Amino acid sequence: MLPILDFVKKLFRIDRAPATPGKALEVPQGSGPRVYSRSEHTISRNSISENALKVLYRLRKADFQAYLVGGCVRDLLLGYEPKDFDVVTDAHPEQVRAVFRNCRLIGRRFRLAHVHFGPEIVEVATFRGRSEEIGEGDRVLGSGGRILRDNVYGTIEEDAWRRDFTVNALYYNIRDFSVVDYVGGMEDHRAGVLRLIGDPEQRYREDPVRMLRAIRFSVKLGFTIHQSCAEPLHRLAHLLAGVPAARLYDEVLKLLMSGYAVQTFEQLRHYRLFGALFPETEACLAQEPEGFPLTFLAKALENTDARLQENKGVAPFFLFAALLWEPVRAAAKARIEEGDNDVFAYQEVANEVMGRQLRHISIPRAVGQPAREVWMLQPRLERIKGVRPFKLLTHPRFRAAYDFLLVRAATGEADPELADWWTRFLGADDAEQRAMTREGGGRRSGRSRSRGRRGPRPPRATQNAGD
Ligand code: ATP
Ligand code: MG
Repeated sequence: MLPILDFVKKLFRIDRAPATPGKALEVPQGSGPRVYSRSEHTISRNSISENALKVLYRLRKADFQAYLVGGCVRDLLLGYEPKDFDVVTDAHPEQVRAVFRNCRLIGRRFRLAHVHFGPEIVEVATFRGRSEEIGEGDRVLGSGGRILRDNVYGTIEEDAWRRDFTVNALYYNIRDFSVVDYVGGMEDHRAGVLRLIGDPEQRYREDPVRMLRAIRFSVKLGFTIHQSCAEPLHRLAHLLAGVPAARLYDEVLKLLMSGYAVQTFEQLRHYRLFGALFPETEACLAQEPEGFPLTFLAKALENTDARLQENKGVAPFFLFAALLWEPVRAAAKARIEEGDNDVFAYQEVANEVMGRQLRHISIPRAVGQPAREVWMLQPRLERIKGVRPFKLLTHPRFRAAYDFLLVRAATGEADPELADWWTRFLGADDAEQRAMTREGGGRRSGRSRSRGRRGPRPPRATQNAGD
């Protein structure tokens, strides 16, 4: 139990927003780029994918400019293997298509070229224009300054200034293998600082997802969020409510399936962004002085990180089941105390909590449904007499529900004896299993059912996880 307590203490620690001296970047006055020659940086062509190099060289041969940009340059400078290689060019999408046979144009908001090499796709984008110079009709702003449509080509410099963080706006030039830097990204990269380009508040308002990206990159890269970009986070967290729920789903997955879920969760809570994503969970966490649910969630996230570390898969439904477990558990407990049957209470509450969560994050049905099943199986795992345990074994979600019970038991929220019973049951042969279910461990044989009353069915939640 002790390591868990330490862990919780660590989670409760409120880190001060890192204070890096200096101010937010001003909008440029046409100052030229700083060019770092091949000898002044560490990016070697050996670490760039062959296909990305092919694309860069072919564009160059066709007399276009061609650069790598964004996450790949940032990661190459750190010595990490990039997830993918993004190319930018002055060629328009149709011109890119004319250069490559294996090319498809995609995207409505902004046209992109995808160059296909078997399973690998190299994305080629045309330089995008600078916001202030974009005429009406090319750029549509939503409420609060959010960009809804943005469709103008520009120069490399304009392209640089409309990116999010300085370290994401470095260009690797295939012409001379230099790194071109319009925004001081190289210095920030060397100092390990994550800094928005331009006025932080305005950039967050334009696209509130940048707040989540700030957390994701700072944790992943081990970079400090610049003071000017950390300060507005608390104040602007509510803007996430205006972001389409489908986009937030993608972002939450990127945040929590990064291998750093524990730290990310800690930072999201610190900057009050977690509550904007999972308001009911946050309300439960905030109310619990002993950190009971926090322990559970931390443990589940710790397991997620450990699995990714070992290159094992993580099921998004398990993650969402863990993230929303506390509101489900608390509401089901209240209903059971009022006399509801436990299986029935969990079923109802699972639908309600999931339905309300869908207003914030659009969890696909293929994820939401198994998450609800994991919750609904929890009370059923308590029935260990007779044929019920055997029936449960055949449930497609049994294994996940059992793993879920193990996390609950490990953090003191469920009975460790029950988890232990299931572990022994799974390891037992037929005869032993029959004996175990005859004895039933002397406990929980339909305990809650016997005192249960099936309460009147309340009206269904407005959204029922897509039912
Ligand atoms: P990752 O390693 O997660 O892919 P990345 O930096 O490549 O990190 P992407 O989402 O792939 O992130 O975006 C590619 C690049 O596009 C970024 O590096 C950044 O320059 C730009 N970009 C992405 N999202 C935004 C945004 N919301 N606002 C401004 N620029 C953005
Ligand atoms: Mg990327």
